[in-house]
Amino acid sequence: MTLETQLIRTKHEQISGDDMELNWLYLDLNSYFASVEQQLQPKLQSKPVAIVPTMTDATCAIAASYEAKAYGVKTGTMIYEAKKICPELICVQANHENYVKYHHIILAEIDKHIPIEIISSIDEVACKLIGSQKNEKEARKIANNIKIGIQNNVGQYIRCSIGIAPNRFLAKTASNLEKPNGLQVLYSKDIPERIKHFKLSDLTGIGKAMEYRLNKSGILSIQELYNISPKHMRKIWGNVQGEKFWYMLRGKEIADIKTKRKTIGHSHVLEPKWRLIELAKKVMLRLLLKAASRLRRMEYYCSCLSLSIRTEKNIRLGGKSKFYRACDNKKLQEEATKIWNQLTKKQKFKQIKKISITLYNLKKKSDLHPELFQDSNKKITLNINRFETLSKTMDNINTRFGRDSITLGGLPNKIKSFSGTRIAFTRIPDKQEFYE
Ligand SMILES: [Mg+2]
Repeated sequence: MTLETQLIRTKHEQISGDDMELNWLYLDLNSYFASVEQQLQPKLQSKPVAIVPTMTDATCAIAASYEAKAYGVKTGTMIYEAKKICPELICVQANHENYVKYHHIILAEIDKHIPIEIISSIDEVACKLIGSQKNEKEARKIANNIKIGIQNNVGQYIRCSIGIAPNRFLAKTASNLEKPNGLQVLYSKDIPERIKHFKLSDLTGIGKAMEYRLNKSGILSIQELYNISPKHMRKIWGNVQGEKFWYMLRGKEIADIKTKRKTIGHSHVLEPKWRLIELAKKVMLRLLLKAASRLRRMEYYCSCLSLSIRTEKNIRLGGKSKFYRACDNKKLQEEATKIWNQLTKKQKFKQIKKISITLYNLKKKSDLHPELFQDSNKKITLNINRFETLSKTMDNINTRFGRDSITLGGLPNKIKSFSGTRIAFTRIPDKQEFYE
């Protein structure tokens, strides 16, 4: 048995893909938070800017503009250090609401040119190339049109680097080849030659700890990493992930391990007295909060939510929504309500028999994009996490005092600023009503 078939058989994984083909386009926005601020505030344009979680020198930059990067200020640089190397540095407090807003505007623009397959983070997306799009010329054309579209319709300070390659891993790697405003096509045959200048930890999937382990095994460069066998990689990684990496590096497509949790969901057949649309909505929200609380307990985020209903005439309707990863009640409730309104508006039915909710595109909290959430020493809490904290507090209260002791009530749709928001709590008087 070859290693390849062994891997498929034993780990339920699938290796596929013509590694000579271009299958993925990966887009990474350059200095995203800083670019959004420069777009919104003309006084910051062409200036060294650092985005900070709080206005103090004792914090670190969570993003830096290209002008600041030229001085050596990076994500994770402490501000007191940054000011030493770049005295004219302008610090701007992160405004996560704007970054999320721009994220959606940018996604809508990209979607005009090619459907988005995966939202990897707030500033990175991956798109699958199909049919004639796999031709290099065609793929480059799409990439250039996205760039022009973003410049013209989103803002000239919003720039991106695009990588095109046989698999998602190499496409992301290709997006790192040229910054800012890059466009690079990477074929499997170009590996390791074209990426040999990268550090091991520049590759997705190799963090500082793994880099250390590789170094201890005598592997110091990309070339050396490329030369070792899948078996050797597995040994260093200590699991099948190492073997997977060997294939990824060669442009193969590898499906996720199937045993990994993919979704969290709940469905419920409604008692007749709960079937009117307005009442059924309460059940839907209850199911959602239950799924959300499970999501948090398992320490996952999701970036996709689907909702389906079955009407009294047994017609099944459904919708789904993709968003930047979340695990807080507020965001998930907003997304579910959006779908609910679409499904129930202009429909001829009056009653709902069954509701199903599924959260998917799950991401383990420990696998999160390190740039946004941590530097080497400490965690940075972004503004958006207040809702997570609040949701967790609610989970704790509910665990302690019983289900539905506390829940989220009518939130205003348009919230001006996260900090100014007041959260409404509503006690649900009859908790048995929702008891399953
Ligand atoms: Mg980026």
